[in-house]
Amino acid sequence: MNKEKIKRILNELDRMFPDAKCELEYGNELELLIAVMLSAQTTDASVNKLTKTLFKKYRTVDDYANASLEVLEADLRSIGLYRNKAKNVKAMAEKLIEDFQGVVPCDHEALQTLPGVGRKTANVVISEGFKVPALAVDTHVERISKRLGFALKNDSVLQVEKKLMKAIDKERWIKTHHQLIFFGRYHCKSMNPSCQDCRLIDICKESKRKKYLKKAEI
Ligand code: SF4
Repeated sequence: MNKEKIKRILNELDRMFPDAKCELEYGNELELLIAVMLSAQTTDASVNKLTKTLFKKYRTVDDYANASLEVLEADLRSIGLYRNKAKNVKAMAEKLIEDFQGVVPCDHEALQTLPGVGRKTANVVISEGFKVPALAVDTHVERISKRLGFALKNDSVLQVEKKLMKAIDKERWIKTHHQLIFFGRYHCKSMNPSCQDCRLIDICKESKRKKYLKKAEI
């Protein structure tokens, strides 16, 4: 993608979502890590509703490690995949104590040794929790990157991440990550994107673009 197009996209993201930020609520790095782990295939609003009480009950990493799996499952029951998430959160807490003295590491590789923590979660934790530049690619970021031409349709998540990192200046990674999520969550939705109001329609590769342009020609 040429520099002019990248500049236009970033300017539009700035215009539309100047204050884009992480919508998960947390008070420290451990809570952030747990909130991100819980957010898989669940909305941030559902996670926030749950963690409002969860974080009052479980205050330290030991609380999660020492909890019985049955109790933790019951406490996570309101969100999807709660059994798997409870298992991962407990195992993550145990490993955090065993290998990292109970402290969430500010290290991409180290984070990924924790059960249930993949590349995306590690990227969110280091960028959001520690303000270290990273570009986490979730479902919104992947979709928007492909529609706007940062990446190709068949690119893997890792390829999308690498292409975004190459196209965008490092000091903008954290901000752009949040803006792409907002763009995908509130404007360019998966099923019903707002193409009729989109200032990037001439850049977009999405098929709906063609539909709107075609309509305009009639
Ligand atoms: Fe998304 Fe439609 Fe804009 Fe393309 S034209 S970026 S699909 S809203």
